[in-house]
Amino acid sequence: MGNLQILLRQHVGAPCRPVVKIGDRVEKGVLIAEPAGLGANIFSSVYGVVEDVRDDRIIIRPDEVQKDEYVPIPEGDKLEMVKAAGVVGMGGAGFPTAVKLGTDLDGGYILVNAAECEPGLCHNIRQIEEDCEKVVRGTKHCMEICNAAKAIFAIKKKNEKAVARLREALKGEEAITIHLLPDIYPMGEERAVVRECLGVELDTTQLPSAAGAVVCNVETLARVAEAIEERKPCFSKNLTVIGKINGGNAPHVFMDVPVGTSVGELIERSGGIDGNYGEIIMGGAFTGKAAAEEEPITKTTGGIIVTIDFPDLHGAKVGLLVCACGGSEERMRDICGKMNGVPVSVARCKQAVENKPGAPLKCERPGNCPGQAKNNIQFKKDGCEYIIIGNCSDCSNTVMGSAPKMGLKIFHQTDHAMRTIGHPLYRHLRVSKQVEQLPDGK
Ligand code: SF4
Repeated sequence: MGNLQILLRQHVGAPCRPVVKIGDRVEKGVLIAEPAGLGANIFSSVYGVVEDVRDDRIIIRPDEVQKDEYVPIPEGDKLEMVKAAGVVGMGGAGFPTAVKLGTDLDGGYILVNAAECEPGLCHNIRQIEEDCEKVVRGTKHCMEICNAAKAIFAIKKKNEKAVARLREALKGEEAITIHLLPDIYPMGEERAVVRECLGVELDTTQLPSAAGAVVCNVETLARVAEAIEERKPCFSKNLTVIGKINGGNAPHVFMDVPVGTSVGELIERSGGIDGNYGEIIMGGAFTGKAAAEEEPITKTTGGIIVTIDFPDLHGAKVGLLVCACGGSEERMRDICGKMNGVPVSVARCKQAVENKPGAPLKCERPGNCPGQAKNNIQFKKDGCEYIIIGNCSDCSNTVMGSAPKMGLKIFHQTDHAMRTIGHPLYRHLRVSKQVEQLPDGK
């Protein structure tokens, strides 16, 4: 195991403040940084020695032999234990879970986000298949903490094995039901989960609590159960490594990887990169970013995707169509550059809005297209030969309705990743947005 780099910002909020110094011996589960505002405790994920303390990270040299035991968090009430354990939204959002669970739902809902919407990632579904009971127990702890009367698992219907496991685990749990989701992107967006499960459309400034709900990801709920039942600090992460890997493009699922492990080490553990490659994506194909092998995983890293090479556009003029649930403009420009294209026009889906200037984009109605013809007309007028789109399933379908007729050639920002993993490209919508539900939600 190489040195671990534990970032001081792995959550929404301010970077944490280190509480260790160079040369300190640390044990697994020992607090090494604490919040300096909104944030969550950060722990050593190994036994070892602090090698360096930098502005943005703590570097730990691990001992050769690692024990399973860890330093437990103090006993307390359930919410205090979730806070002490430093649990954050492990689905990628990174919002401190104890802050989220500080909401009195007055009989409302815990919505379990099991959509695992980023194509190719499958560690959440694997966790349901293999350790469903822990997730259910975490859900029940959260119901108690938030005073919720009900819970709903939101999961894609295509995950038949996981749905069957859930149905088995939920026998006798009258207050917990299942809502089946269609296999389209982005069903895992928090407000999409609320809309699908409760039929309530929230605007971009509203939190799920406005619909009487708190939304938690599958792994987050498992970490809540570990914090409360095992007094375990949150220092490890489940994730999927997939792509151009020696041995093939099947996913490699890793459970409980020490936070701070390098991307390169996890690729090596999967078999190593198979020859030339395009880029390494940390996160999902829609919302992730290009990463170097040296970069460390955090509490919010869900995927590592090694892609095939990019096509070469030989300096052609390109239009970029930005979606709130896909890559940012910066990421789209990064991809365009890697394809040797020249971005000459940038447009946003009209439902992608900033709540305040400079804030990340939010979608007004995730996954329900407002029309894209106007953007295609702009790209044509600006002389684009190609367009790179980052849109959701429904909007990609709409783009396909007009762009080819205008002579625009289309790439989706996820194409190189989808071709690598053998997933259909995001173009025409080939599945229904409606799915038949289970009788009585079970
Ligand atoms: S409606 Fe527009 S902003 Fe929303 S998910 Fe689809 S492409 Fe993105």
